[in-house]
Amino acid sequence: MRLDAGGVEGAGECVAGEAPFYSAETVDTARHVIERYLAPAVLGTPLESPDRVGPALAHAAKGHRMAKAALEMAAWDARARAEGVSLAEALGGVRARVPAGVSIGIHDDIQALIDRVSGFVDEGYRRVKLKVAPDRDLEVVRAVRLKFPHIALTVDANAAYSGRDLDRIRALEDFDLDFIEQPLPADALLLHADLQDRLETPICLDESITSPDRCRDALGVAACRVVNIKPGRLAGHGPSRVVHDLCAGAGVPVWCGGMLESGIGRAHNVALASLPNMRLPGDTSASDRYWERDVVDPPFTLNADGTVDVPTGAGIGVDVDEEFLAFVMEEEVTLT
Ligand code: MG
Repeated sequence: MRLDAGGVEGAGECVAGEAPFYSAETVDTARHVIERYLAPAVLGTPLESPDRVGPALAHAAKGHRMAKAALEMAAWDARARAEGVSLAEALGGVRARVPAGVSIGIHDDIQALIDRVSGFVDEGYRRVKLKVAPDRDLEVVRAVRLKFPHIALTVDANAAYSGRDLDRIRALEDFDLDFIEQPLPADALLLHADLQDRLETPICLDESITSPDRCRDALGVAACRVVNIKPGRLAGHGPSRVVHDLCAGAGVPVWCGGMLESGIGRAHNVALASLPNMRLPGDTSASDRYWERDVVDPPFTLNADGTVDVPTGAGIGVDVDEEFLAFVMEEEVTLT
């Protein structure tokens, strides 16, 4: 998405999926809500700063945070470009490079999974995250841990377990995991708190943290000891920074998750990941983790030490590859 903010253009990316599997939003719902409700609420409206975009969008529609984030984050890029500073600097970032982890989906073939992990470890990724589900967990994690006894390893259940599975989740403690991500349903803060109380391993919340208020509640009941920040899930950089600060105040480390973004969304995530309490490797992988060719120039690459450089140019600090974007684009819509 491109936003013309008083003659300066900013770029954002809507991270909703094709289907409502991660959250209720999809590409189609986001497009509908942006065209019908969100864009009319901000286009032609003088707003002092990107921090004013979120409240204006909140008045226009309930929920639909990924749709809102696309606009809000484009406004942040435009503001940073107008000021001639990097987005990382505009957000309060303090790091020149951010440690990168990698997230690996469920494989039916354990040997194929081990080969995949091996490739990413050789590339230098600092942390490996395995997706797990109640029928695809202990055996898989045991096999990977046996093969790689020293890597930083985590698991992510994407809310696949229920309150009946607490003993099964506790069995994951045998594998020296840095954290167990979102084992239980997003709304189940008290159940997460009960589970966290019984676990040595930290719980990291992802899907549960949909707003600063939810984060405050999660921290208040000790439902987690780590938080995954995704600006798309939180309606943009503004609320993401609030969650970052809340967690910092509670001594809870955070990291930046990913939604398989193109280079535009990735640039936003990398800038956000440079904030001081982003103390764990993010899912801020290099462009080639997901794309044969990225839509930004230069693409994001992994340094030998398993980090990704935070761009220093104005705004998101990378250029959109117009020729390639035109090639992959299915449709262009202009809203005025
Ligand atoms: Mg997750």
